[in-house]
Amino acid sequence: MTGRLLGVVGGLLGGTRPAWPWRGRGFFDFPGGWGFWVWVGVVGGVQLGLLVVYNGGVKTHVIVKTHELALKGKNRPWFMRRLAENLRLATGGAGVSRVWQGQLMIGLTLEDESRWAEVRERVRDCFGVAKFFLAYEFPQDLGLIRDALRERLAPGGFGSFRMVTNRGDKRFPMTSPEVNREMGRFVEGLTGARVDLSNPELSIYLDIQARGILLYFDETPAYGGLPVGASGRVAVMLSGGIDSPVAAWHMMKRGCSALFVHFHSYPLVDRSSIEKASELAQLLGRHQRHSELFLAPLSEIQKRVIVETPPSYRVLLYRRFMLRIAEALAQGAGAKAIVTGESCGQVSSQTLDNIAVVDRVAVMPVLRPLIGLNKEEIVGMARNIGTFPISIQPDQDCCSLFVPKHPETRARLPVVERLEAGLPVAELVAESLAGVVREQIPSPYAG
Ligand code: ATP
Ligand code: MG
Repeated sequence: MTGRLLGVVGGLLGGTRPAWPWRGRGFFDFPGGWGFWVWVGVVGGVQLGLLVVYNGGVKTHVIVKTHELALKGKNRPWFMRRLAENLRLATGGAGVSRVWQGQLMIGLTLEDESRWAEVRERVRDCFGVAKFFLAYEFPQDLGLIRDALRERLAPGGFGSFRMVTNRGDKRFPMTSPEVNREMGRFVEGLTGARVDLSNPELSIYLDIQARGILLYFDETPAYGGLPVGASGRVAVMLSGGIDSPVAAWHMMKRGCSALFVHFHSYPLVDRSSIEKASELAQLLGRHQRHSELFLAPLSEIQKRVIVETPPSYRVLLYRRFMLRIAEALAQGAGAKAIVTGESCGQVSSQTLDNIAVVDRVAVMPVLRPLIGLNKEEIVGMARNIGTFPISIQPDQDCCSLFVPKHPETRARLPVVERLEAGLPVAELVAESLAGVVREQIPSPYAG
């Protein structure tokens, strides 16, 4: 932003009784970069006001568009506020001077265009953002747009283009097709490129709003979905494997904030699975403000299960214990559901019979966003979201301890219940809960 400060006025507005009904602070922007910032408040029992007048000149914004949020009817303002707040937090300390809401869009005003690369990464990580772009704001004057295009478009830099104008401010004297024609001719003359409406190398967008004209070129696609936090909280059972981080990512994309629960058999095995879970939680933590990883010990439970039950049922019994503990942690942390990375039939513990027997211990819904996906599809997603390289590092996973060659694939509930009747289930669960260590993981973007 190439702004100029034009004046500051301060003054006394009255005694302790409000002379002004409004208190607070706010920006008010006008076409041409003009604006003022007002503050009204009380200091030492005296009501004061402050007015700062400025001209922002050409401003650079990141314009964020949503898709699904537009369909939310009466709740739309609530979702938009939530997204704006998430964007504000995610871009803290990255040179964003203001976050503002327009019609079906959110704008982030950049202090300086050089921060764009950094802001781009952070905006892309905010779920709810469908696409976004860097836009320059000018007063409503096509002459200024021509100057800007002259500065930015190199002759021969592209062979074909199209103009896409949206006239949001119907008071603007030309229609969108008229603007497209006039500016299209100008760009043809400037660059020698030809107009191609169906498959252009470059699209030049003009969005005519009451506050000014936004000029932008490329859109960056993002993930869409809902802003994290809008759907409530879930507890993700996070192993160090490939699947559960992908499951977590999908639930976060649907607006859930996630807490992570990892079971480990330390000191029966080394700490490698704990380290992987922690690294994965940090990576996923880019999508929310703050993450918490609960590290729950499973070794005592495993020792009892190994001694007292037949090998074919071990994994199933571990799973039922894990779910009981995860549910207790979820309840304590205000989560409403549990998430796992299971996919139907992928391994013996994930047959429908076994899933049904495991689910019986929980009252909370157990969500399995990957249930209908093939392993290769999940691997592809893990690569895209960046968790794959961490997931494939070798580790000593708790569930690989003393696993039999032929685990039960068609578990029967009465059998499982009879086996558990010989174990001090409640005490073992309480003991594990007492040994839980909570790791705090602030967002890497926290300002
Ligand atoms: P993943 O790749 O997520 O480890 P997987 O294909 O290895 O899955 P399993 O080991 O059977 O499958 O685990 C199924 C699900 O159970 C996991 O996706 C995860 O949600 C949960 N789970 C398994 N082990 C652990 C663990 N040590 N801590 C927390 N959750 C676990
Ligand atoms: Mg696993």
